[in-house]
Amino acid sequence: MVYKSKGYTFDMGPSWYMMLEAFENIFQLLGTSSGEHYNTIRLDPSYRVFFGPGDFVDISDDVEKNITLFDTFEEGGGAKLQKYLDASKEKYEIAMDNFIYKDYWHFWDFLDKTLIFKGIKLRIFQNLGKYAKRYFNSERARKIMQYHVAFVGAAPPTSPAIYSMLAHCDMNLGIWYPVGGFGSIVSAFENIAKENGVEIKYRAEVKEIEVEDKHARKVISSKGSHDADLVLNTAELPHCEMNLLEDRYQSYPEKYWKKKTIAPATFLIFLGLDKKLDKLEHHNFYFNEDWDRYFDEVFGKNVKWPDDPSMYISVPSRSDESLAPPGGETMTILVLVSPDINDDDNTRDEYYEKIMDLVEKVTGEKIRDSIVVKKVIAHDHFAGTFHAYRGTALGLANTLRQTALFRPHHKSKKVKNLYHAGQYTHPGVGVPVTLISAQLACQKIMKDIEKEG
Ligand SMILES: Cc1cc2nc3c(=O)[nH]c(=O)nc-3n(C[C@H](O)[C@H](O)[C@H](O)COP(=O)(O)OP(=O)(O)OC[C@H]3O[C@@H](n4cnc5c(N)ncnc54)[C@H](O)[C@@H]3O)c2cc1C
Repeated sequence: MVYKSKGYTFDMGPSWYMMLEAFENIFQLLGTSSGEHYNTIRLDPSYRVFFGPGDFVDISDDVEKNITLFDTFEEGGGAKLQKYLDASKEKYEIAMDNFIYKDYWHFWDFLDKTLIFKGIKLRIFQNLGKYAKRYFNSERARKIMQYHVAFVGAAPPTSPAIYSMLAHCDMNLGIWYPVGGFGSIVSAFENIAKENGVEIKYRAEVKEIEVEDKHARKVISSKGSHDADLVLNTAELPHCEMNLLEDRYQSYPEKYWKKKTIAPATFLIFLGLDKKLDKLEHHNFYFNEDWDRYFDEVFGKNVKWPDDPSMYISVPSRSDESLAPPGGETMTILVLVSPDINDDDNTRDEYYEKIMDLVEKVTGEKIRDSIVVKKVIAHDHFAGTFHAYRGTALGLANTLRQTALFRPHHKSKKVKNLYHAGQYTHPGVGVPVTLISAQLACQKIMKDIEKEG
């Protein structure tokens, strides 16, 4: 979703453009390429990491420079990084060839010899926190190699080590930027759909999927009633199952969701500024000192609005001047928080001040005196606008127990012509893998059409 105000343009959701081959693959299937629709640039530095006030390092697009940087963290740090990246490349290749592009329906779909043998050898099922400790002694190196997992809605120290493959996506394959922001990608798919005869009904909220004789026959939306031969749901899956279908047709009813680990919500601040921010790059992180405490406040038993959270700060106008008026910047601050804490106007206002104190202290930039546009959202926005379950921003966390077969299937178990795609299904959270999920759902549909007509 793109938010525009007073000449400032904000991506309200994703902003990290990684795993380009997943995007390219989809464009290729549609008979085109991303380059025909938008330009991409590789970011350098890829991102900046703050460990405390004014204390930062830059992760480069050049692996050699990162090796030199890691040598400053600990003795032999550079060689350790190279070894870690080699292993994460191997994991990525195994995952792409044997795991991610595969649909899971039965337990035996899991029984892939290569995945099992190589997976055990590469310790993909080990806990990522322990895995990173095997390679690095320094906290800085460990944190940089683990943070990616927060992108899939899981706690870095307790996630499976298969996600260390994201280090390969980051440092070897690079962090890119689709010029114009993620809205350019959405527009590309919108245009391709229209060119191929798709009629898009904008701002049509689906209210009900009418089922007769175990088949979805009609989709009732705020724009009317639409006959259906087949329904592919890409809205939040808990919403589709619990709110759009009658109880007897729900494959995943409320009791299913209550047992699941739901990914974090996000506290998000969007700011349009009338000055430049020289101390920040396009992508920036602040890694707080005590990760165990912070992740316990987000994922653990002591959930609360964290006092000293890690955070992501994006200033995309550093790479793309079209996003802000001349001399200004667009800025987004994202804090992962538990979905199980109360969000209301007062809490958000108070938390905003706390986070801005922290951002100004850590980055050394005075920001609050230059704000032209300000928007602050959290759980309520996601629940109200997108029907997000419990206000989560990232859906179903990609934990080991919620991977592949253990995620909702691409096809309803109770409604024969109802299919699902999106971040709740396999492979999970993040734009590139959500596109793969759509591809898998389409393959399932084509197979069923061939089989059943
Ligand atoms: C703040 C934020 C930052 C993120 N950053 C990144 C990132 O940098 N890189 C990355 O790869 N991923 C990122 N992600 C994750 C990524 O955006 C998601 O995993 C991905 O967009 C999920 O796609 P989806 O199609 O499943 O769901 P969505 O993109 O949420 O799409 C679901 C759509 O369904 C619509 N809908 C819901 N109910 C109805 C209804 N009843 N009728 C009609 N429509 C309905 C919603 O309005 C929504 O448009 C981020 C997510 C958030 C929230």
